[in-house]
Amino acid sequence: MASPSAIPEPLRHPPSRGQALVIGAGLSGSAVAHSLALRGWAVTVIDRAGGVGAGASGLPAGLAAPHVSPDDNVLSRITRAGVEATLQRARALLQSGSDWALTGVLEHNLAGKRKLPKADPGTPDNPPNGSTQASPAQIAAAGLAPGTPALWHGQAGWVRPRQLVAAQLQTPGIQVIWEGKAQAIERRGALWNVTDAQGQTLGQAPLLVVASAFDSLALLKPLPGFAVPLNPLRGQISFGHMHDLTDAQRQLLPPFPVNGHGSFISNVPTPDGQLGWYIGSTFERDCEQAPVREEDHAANQQRLSTLLPDLGSAMQNQFSPAYVSGWAGLRCTLPNRLPAVGPIDSEGLPGLWLCAGMGARGISLAVLCGELLAAWLDKEVPPLAPSLAKHLAAERFIKRP
Ligand SMILES: Cc1cc2nc3c(=O)[nH]c(=O)nc-3n(C[C@H](O)[C@H](O)[C@H](O)COP(=O)(O)OP(=O)(O)OC[C@H]3O[C@@H](n4cnc5c(N)ncnc54)[C@H](O)[C@@H]3O)c2cc1C
Repeated sequence: MASPSAIPEPLRHPPSRGQALVIGAGLSGSAVAHSLALRGWAVTVIDRAGGVGAGASGLPAGLAAPHVSPDDNVLSRITRAGVEATLQRARALLQSGSDWALTGVLEHNLAGKRKLPKADPGTPDNPPNGSTQASPAQIAAAGLAPGTPALWHGQAGWVRPRQLVAAQLQTPGIQVIWEGKAQAIERRGALWNVTDAQGQTLGQAPLLVVASAFDSLALLKPLPGFAVPLNPLRGQISFGHMHDLTDAQRQLLPPFPVNGHGSFISNVPTPDGQLGWYIGSTFERDCEQAPVREEDHAANQQRLSTLLPDLGSAMQNQFSPAYVSGWAGLRCTLPNRLPAVGPIDSEGLPGLWLCAGMGARGISLAVLCGELLAAWLDKEVPPLAPSLAKHLAAERFIKRP
């Protein structure tokens, strides 16, 4: 934990506390709104969609799982703190079993490159966040051959992002304006003003948090000095219903999610409420649209065959158009795979903050980022040590002379 005196440099000119506008009602925007509302802020969230789940956070189901590295690098440490924050939020707001579940996740260590950090000398048998080498029983339960290299992440599980977004937005103190597409933002006196395509004001506040993922770029690029290099990264998952599986296929299902080459999850409700299985995801750069593509189902089928070979070969028929469905979305990425949070330029653009760039880890990172942003604003002890939090600061992209 950081000491209060370690509040980072960007906070020299925090906006006056009270009213906040947030653009974007995905995992990022809802997490920011929730964290601010819990601290007494009056928050208005504006989203261009008609309801929850328009962007990447419409993902039907995904994983909250740690990242491990032999040197326990910055990404690993931040992701671990993020997963912890998400699981805590899920316990507080969601229904276990239908909205999320702490199942543990087995990581098939295909490339052999995932290595656990050296155990903390004080706790030799307890590597951080419950990650260990997978036991022979866990490897067998996943349907993998004995001796397959694999890790076990005990503090991990699946989450349905829409459920988390909806729950966070229900916090008292949050008002949501749906079908409000922000077209432009400008500072008018002490307030940030957000207008739509007709030039009508959608909202005004001294604090504006832009949390509209890759679309943040269109809003922020016109501002002088904006330098956060947000990129789109399209991805598709393939999913189907449990009731379409044969008994033989069901017997091969691992009792927990498996990742390591994409991820496979089963027995989790699909958007229509029936239990389903999921395999994903594809990665496609330089694409700003997210249509569902037939060829991506083939890529996901291949992914499943690599990740869980026996299950992949048994489930081939499930990828026929009669059974398989798809969902695609745009991740918003940054070069070092860490989000951009906090003031964009506290000197040049006071009161304008960002929470974007969650990449492929929005479930694991958005709750932590919302808490970090709110703690910085309210000058609380941040949920991350300054040596880690500085790697998330949006102002890290400013090039000062
Ligand atoms: C295929 C796929 C699989 C994934 N799997 C996982 C996983 O297993 N684990 C994990 O942690 N993460 C996963 N992710 C990543 C995760 O889904 C994202 O990181 C996360 O949803 C991003 O949340 P966000 O709120 O930043 O963006 P979004 O969810 O995209 O939200 C942005 C919101 O802004 C709104 N908006 C945009 N422009 C405007 C505007 N001009 N005015 C008003 N509103 C606007 C949109 O309507 C949208 O609601 C996956 C992503 C994909 C695509």
